[in-house]
Amino acid sequence: TAAAMEEPISPPVQVNYTQLLINGQFVDAASGKTFPTLDPRTGEVIAHVAEGDVEDVNRAVIAARKAFDEGPWPRMTAYERSRIMYRFADLIEKHNDDIAALETWDNGKPYEQAAKIEVPMLARLMRYYAGWADKIHGLVVPADGPHHVQVLHEPIGVAGQIIPWNFPLLMYGWKVGPALACGNTVVLKTAEQTPLSALYVTKLFHEAGLPDGVLNIVSGFGPTAGAALASHMDVDKLAFTGSTATGKIVLELASRSNLKQVTLELGGKSPMIIMDDADIDQAVELAHFALFFNQGQCCCAGSRTFVHERVYDEFVEKAKARAQKRVVGDPFKQGIEQGPQIDEDQFNKILRMIKSGVDEGANLVAGGAQLGDKGYYIQPTVFSDVQDGMKIAKEEIFGPVQSILKFKDLDEVIRRSNNSRYGLAAGIFTNNLATANTLMRALRVGSVWINCFDVFDAAIPFGGYKMSGHGREKGIDSLKNYLQVKAVVTPLNNPAW
Ligand code: ADP
Repeated sequence: TAAAMEEPISPPVQVNYTQLLINGQFVDAASGKTFPTLDPRTGEVIAHVAEGDVEDVNRAVIAARKAFDEGPWPRMTAYERSRIMYRFADLIEKHNDDIAALETWDNGKPYEQAAKIEVPMLARLMRYYAGWADKIHGLVVPADGPHHVQVLHEPIGVAGQIIPWNFPLLMYGWKVGPALACGNTVVLKTAEQTPLSALYVTKLFHEAGLPDGVLNIVSGFGPTAGAALASHMDVDKLAFTGSTATGKIVLELASRSNLKQVTLELGGKSPMIIMDDADIDQAVELAHFALFFNQGQCCCAGSRTFVHERVYDEFVEKAKARAQKRVVGDPFKQGIEQGPQIDEDQFNKILRMIKSGVDEGANLVAGGAQLGDKGYYIQPTVFSDVQDGMKIAKEEIFGPVQSILKFKDLDEVIRRSNNSRYGLAAGIFTNNLATANTLMRALRVGSVWINCFDVFDAAIPFGGYKMSGHGREKGIDSLKNYLQVKAVVTPLNNPAW
């Protein structure tokens, strides 16, 4: 854990693109303004990035509208669209290490994970959606009466997409992939903390043959650029991933403006349930991964670790030891499991949440403080004896803080797991098939991982029940978010006029 104190490793990549990408061109913001994007390892400036605002969003929507109404995208054959997406995936693979380095620099996540998991997953997502492009079709349905009834599936139009900073490239893939496969055009607003990777890969997308205006990238802040997109009268669909509080705002902006269709992927407080029949060492490792992966910055993080009372004490001891062994340090260094948190706001929020856990009487068994004296590193932290009413058991922490709760039986853990406004995901660890079946049906969540966690295959739908969101991303279900349904009726016989 000493690595956090050492001099930061020089990133093996340069920042080439910092402007907005509108209509296939890199351009400055209309205001000429820029904002700094920071290195989470040090808080120092990586680059100054064009700061998009209302006027830039407007320019981008005009470009996307033109590319939709007049331009080639929805008019191309689906096969042509898919080929451009396949070529993009090839270019992502070719530039894998540069993209990963840029992401690590801007986000702080371990380079090995970015290079081996996240960037390859972006290529995989693009190929998955490229594969769908020429397989999206409507239906011919039997109706009462002498009518030939067709149901056409058409693109919706211009999609506005707002993404967060925790998985900038995956969120890009989850949103851009289905929108473009279905023939929509897009204006994407990246998170202000992580604007760099989307600019880099979208440049590659254009090299792969993406026509101008089909995908526009606007960097900028939420209440300005984000709100402009959510309330734009000429955006037909909005896809948002972020906090539940902001999700409510964008839904309201969408309904106050033009009632654009909205999908939301929001917060969570996911239970990770450890039954007493489980192999404790494996359970500890899985629960550790479920919470600490990506510096704990996952909407679906297993942030309520429910442990059966018969194995509770042993679990807590081992979870503590595992957290203390976690390798934290410069994310460019080999073998690092955890880098810094994304920024000072999140860093301070996590430390406040840790303090609230202590103040409310949870038992701090590991970590609890900043690591080193530079950047936004936080010690892997574990609380035991957490009670349902505590803030750390109810609210998203979005950091490396594991909360362990004790339970007695299945009914109790079902009730307590479901006693949350969120319903994003859940993990179950058991060898008992009946227990797994009972839990997986009873849990009111969009994803259940049994004896695994965070499996994010392109084909698996992801999304929330309750206040964790509307709609599903990835998988076949994600296409529905980007398709209009048109019913077309013609008489089968000569009409009697
Ligand atoms: P986080 O707390 O993880 O930063 P947010 O929900 O604030 O989560 O941010 C997710 C995305 O939403 C970011 O791209 C951010 O800029 C954007 N955003 C934040 N506030 C607004 C807003 N008022 N309107 C539209 N987008 C917003």
